[in-house]
Amino acid sequence: MFQSGHDGFKMTEVRIKTASGHGVAERWRKRYYYSQGGWSKAFLGDPEQIYERLCALGQHPKPDDVVDVIGNKSWSGHFCRGCDEWVDKVVVFGHSRNGEDEIDLCPDCIEAAHQALIDFAKPYDKPV
Ligand SMILES: [Zn+2]
Repeated sequence: MFQSGHDGFKMTEVRIKTASGHGVAERWRKRYYYSQGGWSKAFLGDPEQIYERLCALGQHPKPDDVVDVIGNKSWSGHFCRGCDEWVDKVVVFGHSRNGEDEIDLCPDCIEAAHQALIDFAKPYDKPV
């Protein structure tokens, strides 16, 4: 476990979340099919047709196949709060039960943060 030199500071739980196509069809149906019957109008096209195409991908569809059907990564990927993009993989910081206090950052943003720390430290590393 990583610990900094600050008293009382404890590293929060860090997890990795990767893109997944699992359960997308069911979530899609819950989002766009009314309990009274009938499909709502999705802005991406015919939601029933998309649902049928999602079901045709099987129980464990590949994330890329879900993206092909829906047209974006918002149903299979994760949102990076650093670059505001839907991405395939994020590092999750935080430990809340409901996820509201979690912060998801993609590898590119983690790398940018790491580089910023290195650049920030450079002046102090130079010999006097
Ligand atoms: Zn990012």
